[in-house]
Amino acid sequence: MESILRSERAWTTDLRRLLATILFLPLFACAEATPEHCVEVILTGTQGGPPAVNGLAGAGTLIRYGTVENQCNDLQLQFDAGRGTTMRLSQLGLTPNDINAVFLTHMHSDHTEGLAGLMQLRWHYTGGPIALVCAADAEIDGRILSCRAYSEHLGDAFIHAGEIGQRVAENSNRHADGPSGLIEIHEVAETAAPVVVWRSGDVTVSAITTTHIPGSLAYRIDTPAGSVVIGGDAGNEKTAPPRATSTSGAVETLAMGADILVHSAIHPIFAPESGSRFPAVAYLRQSNAKDLGAMAKRAGVGQLILTHLIPSLNTASHGPFSVPGGELSATDFESAAHESGFEGEIHVGRDLLSVRLP
Ligand SMILES: [Zn+2]
Repeated sequence: MESILRSERAWTTDLRRLLATILFLPLFACAEATPEHCVEVILTGTQGGPPAVNGLAGAGTLIRYGTVENQCNDLQLQFDAGRGTTMRLSQLGLTPNDINAVFLTHMHSDHTEGLAGLMQLRWHYTGGPIALVCAADAEIDGRILSCRAYSEHLGDAFIHAGEIGQRVAENSNRHADGPSGLIEIHEVAETAAPVVVWRSGDVTVSAITTTHIPGSLAYRIDTPAGSVVIGGDAGNEKTAPPRATSTSGAVETLAMGADILVHSAIHPIFAPESGSRFPAVAYLRQSNAKDLGAMAKRAGVGQLILTHLIPSLNTASHGPFSVPGGELSATDFESAAHESGFEGEIHVGRDLLSVRLP
């Protein structure tokens, strides 16, 4: 309860600041202007789940923040790092050494496998330590989902192959422990209310535990230029019907009044009863596009970005599963999300799609 109050207080403070800015702007318009800031959301990968389709990169969102003059280029925060993240960053002119922190929504390989490549390259070119924010160990049926173990063993194959030792012998500025040696892990304990997990200057990142697999998190980035929520693969707390919606109550709490909500989306056509043969358990732990529109409306979100699309666009099969009725287009996802009456802007994800605030 205390945490809820604390986060509500933080948002109220933001609102007050905004009002203060509007009211007092004319007074200071002639004075030396403080630099204007911007925040930019860039999808580094939009592939839904483990398949590789049409060259899409695995799930990931880059949040950039900074002054308008510097093209929002002062802070680079990477949320999830699926297959090919480093390649997409290179298309933006960024290297792994430019990333300030990485945040993981959950320990599924479609969200994490690109971190190994990203960190290996950062290590190779002697990049500095980096914060990795993710959930504390979470247990399911006696098995542990562990971001800590993943981060500690990130470079094991390269260590065992002998490459790490060979390259350290060539350049002693490289960390002797390999890529894992650069990671400063920030583990987030299970939390039913948003808690601040990372901060730099006037940028704050909060997290809340969600329902997908144990140890799943959604994040909210608050900046003076706007707020963005990364929902990840979250689904409803009730994991099977009958239920009112497929979307996450936790994400809805976190997304209240946010400017942008970035969320994984599954199309209702992929429901087990439609004949996709997609496993029911996998379908039910995602949010469907139609319900996401309804949630965005309830939460008062300005723009909804659908990513991690299942099924992928313009393909008749998603991995081994055929798409009932044939391939889907971006319009199919957009229409599903609009069905709820959500009147904000909807962006159907494609790799490197970018939305900037203000
Ligand atoms: Zn996923």
